[in-house]
Amino acid sequence: MATMTALHERGLLAHELIRRKMRTPIVHLHTQMPLADIREWHREIHGRSPSSGLLPSMSTLLPNRGSQIHVSLFAAIYRRLGGDRVLQEIDIHALVEAWDLFDGLTAHVDRKRPADLTDAWVIARDLRAKSAQMHRCGKCFSPYLVADDCKLPPSCPMCHAIRQSGSGKSFRADASIETPLIGLSGATMLRGT
Ligand SMILES: [Zn+2]
Repeated sequence: MATMTALHERGLLAHELIRRKMRTPIVHLHTQMPLADIREWHREIHGRSPSSGLLPSMSTLLPNRGSQIHVSLFAAIYRRLGGDRVLQEIDIHALVEAWDLFDGLTAHVDRKRPADLTDAWVIARDLRAKSAQMHRCGKCFSPYLVADDCKLPPSCPMCHAIRQSGSGKSFRADASIETPLIGLSGATMLRGT
């Protein structure tokens, strides 16, 4: 009976992943459900066949500084929920939870990356592979993501945005206030971009 329960739970997880637009092979990887079943569920949920083709890369997720703030926000939430273990293996439950939280915080953003659970998974995969790392800014203390596979300079996107907006002076006065979660400062700043 334990096997039936485990199978049922993996089926439920597969549905949750498909609903959040995770690509079929990745759903299979994390649930071990048959690919034919996953494709069929995808058609039932989304009304069309699952897309094939290449997975997005970190360079497509990080075309500019604005996108680095979004990706960093997602990565910080995922790291916070999953803990240090996510540097060793992908925590699929923390990934879903982080995606839902990020998606809610950025609901007002029209075209954002990560755009779905597939994009989010690519970030989680590269954090585990160490080809992307989280850093903490020595100036504003925000966590931010730096990836090997992108053209952005490996510096803080928050400080960059603040320099661009010319509001560095007023920000300096606030820098002593502790910011426990990037989501608050990050989400507020994103509203203007
Ligand atoms: Zn900074």
